Amino acid sequence: MERTKPVYLDNAATTQPYQQVIDCMADAMANCWGNPSSPHAVGNAASALLADSRATIADAIGAEPEEIVFTSGSTESNNLAIRGACLAAGRGSGQIITSALEHASVTKAVRGMRRDEGWACSYVDAVDGKLDLDQLRGLLADPTTLITMMRVQNEAGWIFPIDEVAALRDELAPEALLHCDATQAFGKIDVKPRELGCELLTAGAHKIGGPRGIGFLYVKQGTKLFTTAFGGNQEQGLRSGTEAVPLAAGMAEAVRISMANLERNQRHVSKLRQAAIEQLRDRIEGVVINGETGVSPYILSIRVPGLPNARSVSFLSEHGVCVSRASACTENHTTVAPGTWRKKHPLSLENAGLTKHETTETLRVSFNPANTLEDVGIFVETLAQCAEKHRTVRLVSDNRDRAIA
Ligand code: PLP
Repeated sequence: MERTKPVYLDNAATTQPYQQVIDCMADAMANCWGNPSSPHAVGNAASALLADSRATIADAIGAEPEEIVFTSGSTESNNLAIRGACLAAGRGSGQIITSALEHASVTKAVRGMRRDEGWACSYVDAVDGKLDLDQLRGLLADPTTLITMMRVQNEAGWIFPIDEVAALRDELAPEALLHCDATQAFGKIDVKPRELGCELLTAGAHKIGGPRGIGFLYVKQGTKLFTTAFGGNQEQGLRSGTEAVPLAAGMAEAVRISMANLERNQRHVSKLRQAAIEQLRDRIEGVVINGETGVSPYILSIRVPGLPNARSVSFLSEHGVCVSRASACTENHTTVAPGTWRKKHPLSLENAGLTKHETTETLRVSFNPANTLEDVGIFVETLAQCAEKHRTVRLVSDNRDRAIA
């Protein structure tokens, strides 16, 4: 039977919004369209819905509503956290420490602080996705203003031990702030900033069935942070601009659904991930799994030696299966002038120890609670067909790649 809908396994890029989210946003747009700052009934209805949405989100991460600053999404939250923390501390107060595998919205914000403002920046290695905590310990001997590290790595799903980073910070550099980009973790694995020990935490709505264009930055009470967008002082002055109430309501609805099903969803996607690994090993000789343990069950990074990912992504797409190469954002690197981003910033996967060539064979498969075992079967079968047709390398018995074409 002809399939009408694509098999969508690119949920780390974005997710289909839940129908409840769409309904709730339509309702908010129709009935709560006022400006929350307006001191009249129409404004009050909007500000009540905004407050309710904020409280839902705060509750999901064990925070106070005042600690949630709505932004346009994770990119803005990361920029606000990094620039805002550094500007508040003042230049010369200490280095910024980050990891070698962060998303571009962190890496570039950090680089921007170095280039434009003269901040010292240090990078902690994470070969095979394992954060080098001894290296971090050494770096923390120098004065430090900010540590910024992600919870779940977006290309391969590695989970970073943010609680251990926080413990080292507490021991060696208690004055430093800790920011965590939890974009690929929030609503999927448990994310509680107080338990992790961070003062700043980033999340977005569209990775968990919410709308695009909204996210938040958790800012622990008492944290010194400057704004990067001046205006009408909304969001406690940290993020000016008339609040996007329907988006906030949609995010809160996605959060309610995701949190109510957190563990069940985790079990479900773990089963899909494991089935995918087993079937891939069965059907595609020599397939490599980039990280089998210590990873989010929502992301599976694989490599088929001899099969360029540009070829497999388009073959899969032509056959109704959507996956990505590394991450959706890295697809935009080709639009950046040569010599700027691309030249200076290898993909994170290279920093994790893959060769440049290996990154060109890497596929990211990312799951959602709505995916099924049938989806996994179709994906593996289609990839196997692609490998059969287009692979230029087969494994030989000593386990090394050998060109056969
Ligand atoms: N941080 C991580 C880890 C991500 O995976 C992403 C997007 O994929 C972002 C930040 C940026 O999110 P957005 O594009 O929604 O701003």
